[in-house]
Amino acid sequence: MAVRLQIDATRGSARAGKLITPHGEVETPVFMPVGTLASVKGVSQDVLEDLDVQILLGNTYHLYLRPGVETIRQMGGLHRFMSWDRAILTDSGGFQVFSLNDLRKVSEEGVAFRSHLDGSPHFLSPEKAMEAQIGLGADIIMALDECTEYPAGAQRARDSMELTLRWAERCKSYFEEHKHEVPWARTEAAELRSAGRTRASAHTRARATQAVEATQALFGIVQGGMDLELRRESAGRTIDIGFPGYAIGGLSVGEPRELTRDIVLSTLEHLPCNQPRYLMGVGTPEEIAQYAQSGVDMMDCVLPTRAARHGLLFTSEGKVSIKQARYAQDESALDAGCDCRVCQRYSRAYLRHLYAANELLAQVLNTVHNLHYYLATMRTVRAWIRAGNAARAVTTR
Ligand SMILES: [Zn+2]
Repeated sequence: MAVRLQIDATRGSARAGKLITPHGEVETPVFMPVGTLASVKGVSQDVLEDLDVQILLGNTYHLYLRPGVETIRQMGGLHRFMSWDRAILTDSGGFQVFSLNDLRKVSEEGVAFRSHLDGSPHFLSPEKAMEAQIGLGADIIMALDECTEYPAGAQRARDSMELTLRWAERCKSYFEEHKHEVPWARTEAAELRSAGRTRASAHTRARATQAVEATQALFGIVQGGMDLELRRESAGRTIDIGFPGYAIGGLSVGEPRELTRDIVLSTLEHLPCNQPRYLMGVGTPEEIAQYAQSGVDMMDCVLPTRAARHGLLFTSEGKVSIKQARYAQDESALDAGCDCRVCQRYSRAYLRHLYAANELLAQVLNTVHNLHYYLATMRTVRAWIRAGNAARAVTTR
């Protein structure tokens, strides 16, 4: 088993179910908090568990530079390294190479870039992106794509999409050949070999076989710029290559929000109904709710955590900028409608003071509330889907 989506309820285009991964089940549609450097900034893993986070995102680019893939691989992979036994998804590193490096150079082979930390030269190819993500050992890993810039001309968008398709094929062939090298498969593969050699019990053999089948899942990424026809073609040809899940990439790159929405809704129509659909790097609480209601299963965004560190909080009554002086003596909870540990305990006045005094706790508490708000938003959407027409139970592989 790598990863499969079990859909239990549908309502319109929306679906609710479970993503079954080697590290546990994830209720979908799901919002995945971003843990860039094997850490959701300011929030410890036990708090993430209390918040009922079931899957985290890690950034390959950042982990590759610090502490390095080899270090994490030798520690048994990202799950063990960061003491997180629930699901993890890593991106390919491509997006950060494109967004953090003005001096990058893209060729057929891959992309040359300089570290944003010390300027050292590096090269990321589809094969290297796979090697790095297999070494990190997330449950779901992403093909290396070229994130087409906005705006882009018609020929440029096509060339970029074609490059992403060629890279997707190279990612898949490398992954198929090397997927058994995932750090957490190693002990289990050894178990299987010894089970084969010795007269192990049927139970041990069965368990070892089951364990060996637990591998990572590689998702393909649809590109095509802001051109609906190219998006359709990209979806069709990525599906032809064949992946257990598909992402919509290349959005939130500066285009107007309505355009993002048009591209997402139209691309969704071209993706398989029975496989996970992941919308990368989007959006506000309203947007993630809308996209989940439109049939997206997975989303990630730095917005709740990044905004929290800047004192911007999402509440049931809209955005609150906690730094404002008007909250200095406000005894009320940040969000009267929120049952998170922050809103249950602290006043706006206290949160405002922590922020104004630049206390570390401000970042922690603000992040906890914002993450809770995003996760609660998705819980509400899941309940909305399940409350819809009693759907046929559909299980797909
Ligand atoms: Zn709260």
